[in-house]
Formats: sequence, C-alpha cells, structure tokens
Amino acid sequence: KEYLSDRINSMATSATLAMAAKARELRNEGRDIIGLSLGEPDFNVPDFIKVAAKQAIDDNYSSYSPVDGYGDLKEAISRKFRRDNGLEYSPEQVVVSTGAKQSLANVAMVLLNPGDEVILPAPYWVSYRDIVKLAEGVPVEVPTGIESDFKMTPAQLRAAITPKTKMLWYSSPCNPSGSVYSQQELEGLAAVLREHPGIFVVSDEIYEHINFRSRHASIASIPGMYDRTITVNGVSKAFAMTGWRIGYIGAPAWIAKACTKFQGQITSGANAIAQRATIAALDAPVENIRYMIDEFHKRRDLILQLLGEVEGFRVNVPEGAFYVFPDVSYFFGKELRGKTIGNASDFALYLLEEAGVATVTGEAFGSPDCIRLSYAASESEIREAIRRIREVL
Ligand code: PLP
Repeated sequence: KEYLSDRINSMATSATLAMAAKARELRNEGRDIIGLSLGEPDFNVPDFIKVAAKQAIDDNYSSYSPVDGYGDLKEAISRKFRRDNGLEYSPEQVVVSTGAKQSLANVAMVLLNPGDEVILPAPYWVSYRDIVKLAEGVPVEVPTGIESDFKMTPAQLRAAITPKTKMLWYSSPCNPSGSVYSQQELEGLAAVLREHPGIFVVSDEIYEHINFRSRHASIASIPGMYDRTITVNGVSKAFAMTGWRIGYIGAPAWIAKACTKFQGQITSGANAIAQRATIAALDAPVENIRYMIDEFHKRRDLILQLLGEVEGFRVNVPEGAFYVFPDVSYFFGKELRGKTIGNASDFALYLLEEAGVATVTGEAFGSPDCIRLSYAASESEIREAIRRIREVL
C-alpha cells in the first residue's frame, strides 16, 4: 500500500460492491443470504435487443468504433432525447461511453480543476463522491432527510453555493432514495442557478423510465439550463443491460468534444456489439419494456407494505428507481442479540449476519440514518427477507 498512489489510497471502495462481496463470502460458507444490496434489474435482456446484438456479430462489428460512438447510434440517441425528454441534442452533442459511470467520470475530468466545489444533495449515488475527488474536486454535501422526501430545496441549494462552486450533481429518479424531482421542483432549483451562470449541472437520468407516478422532468429543458447541463443516461437499468456497459451524455458541443478527447486516451469507443444493440433498445417504443416497470411498481408496493409493519423503520414513498431507503435511526444505541447498534453500518451488518439479508448502509450515500434495500428481487425473496428482518429485530 505504501507504494500505491495517494489517489488510490484516498479512494473509498464502492460500498455496494463491498457488501455484495461480504454476502458472497457468507454464501460460500453455506449461509442462505438474500441479496437486496445490488442495483441491478433481475430481468433478462429483452429478446429484441439480443437479436440486434447477434446480428451485429454476424455483420462483423468487430473493429474499433469511433471514440464517441457510431454515428447511427448517436442519431438514435438524439431521437430518444427528443421523443422522451423534449431535448434537442444533435449527434455532435452526444458521447457514448462504457456505462454512465464512465460518462460521469469523463465529465468530472474535463470540467473540474483542483479545489472546484461540486454540490451533492445527499443521499447521492455512491460513486459521485469518489469520481469528483479523483478529478481533484471537492464534494460539498447537502443533507436532506425523509421529511423533505430526500430532496434538496432551492434555499438549501442557495446556501451551499460559494464562489468556488462549479457544479451540481444529482440523480432523479434517485439512487438510493427513489425520489423523483417534479418539473416544478426543478424549476425552483433552476431559478437559483440562473443567478449563478458559472455553475454546471449533471443530471443523471439513468432511472428515467423506472418512474411510477410523475412525468419524468429533465432540467436541461428549463429556460437558462440547456447550455450548462450535462444530461446523463444509459441502458443499464431500464433495459436490464448492466453488463453490456453503454451509457451516454447529451451536452453542449464543447463539453462533448472534451469528453471525446479524454475518452480517446483512456478507453476509446465503447463495445461495438453493445452499441449496435443499443440502437434497437432506444428506437423501440417504451411500451416494450413496460412489463419490467410494472413489475418494479408491484414490488415497490409490496416492500412498502411489508416494511410498514416493521417497528422502527420510517419509509418515504419512493416514486421511482428500485430502492427503498428507510430511516433506521430508531435502532441506534440499542442492543440486539448482544450486539450494540451504533449506526447504519452496524445495522446493515447486523441484518446480514443475523437475518442473512444483504442491504447497504446509508453512510455510503451520505445519509447515515438510513439503509438502502433494492427490490430488484423476486416477490418471494422480498417476502422472506422482510420476514427475517422482523424476526431479528
Ligand atoms: N448513475 C446512477 C444513479 C446509478 O445508480 C448507476 C448504477 O448503479 C450508474 C449511474 C451507472 O450506470 P452504468 O451501469 O451505466 O455505468
């Protein structure tokens, strides 16, 4: 470790992956563990997308693609932005990357200078913090709680802005809270941002389609925001294509160009077969994937009902994504089966060891009163997991 760079030594290991590794360890010891820790749909890739991927192999899509993605894929992404978000991004404003994670890393690397502050409404997705730090930016966390449905208010945003503020990063629907910002709420934030023309916005919309109530709102469509918003999206979540690794941005052309330059030195173009398959995914009507969204909706209602029966859990009603994010601070300072629960990490570990249920501590997301449960699991797994949790509490 002493020979490793300060860069890597100061980086946190992804808490969601760490929990999955611990769960795997217990499974290898023969324990029956129910995994509610990963942010991954438990569906197969829809057949029409598989067909396109197989065709791409037969058509010999085997060479390097353009760094920023195939032209016809970027055109499909332009159409998608217009159809779903009312956003006009020309293909020059689109960059395709190896997952939305790489899209986010590109943006951080091309826009942040050392010491630039990035506002992260907490809870935020685990990797934001470390991606920002890797680019030598300074994460500025704005805590939100269950009272405000885990959403940042315009007043909180205003109070967090300093002369060093360079960016605001958020996801809606949110991982981990499942909260969805309405058009009106985004307009409130945009009104504050319009007073500060030098602040850029990363709007992570990867859960866009997994939204059970409101119409999805993109901040780039609000007056004054388009020229300084980077809209991030990808196919991992809505199309159950996590392992295919395709994400993309729509952004001002000069930012897109910088991301392409950066990506060209790091990874080149994303996987060719997966890019071809993504054209089929994005060109298809959203109705083609409705069955998955409907299923997540059913499971959300189920897990909310079951968690409502667990004393000490306070849960909001997440409108999107596939997570619930209960406040479990009721248990802090209590002793359960001889173990003292000091914080959310102790609590998550307790659930893993005693109930055999893997969750993720909210500390990883900047919300130390909460834990995250993913309901991208079967109905019987959800029922059994919550039954066991009740039992050990
Ligand atoms: N953004 C959010 C909010 C996520 O939850 C995830 C995945 O967990 C990503 C981005 C990364 O997605 P991808 O698989 O496209 O890299």
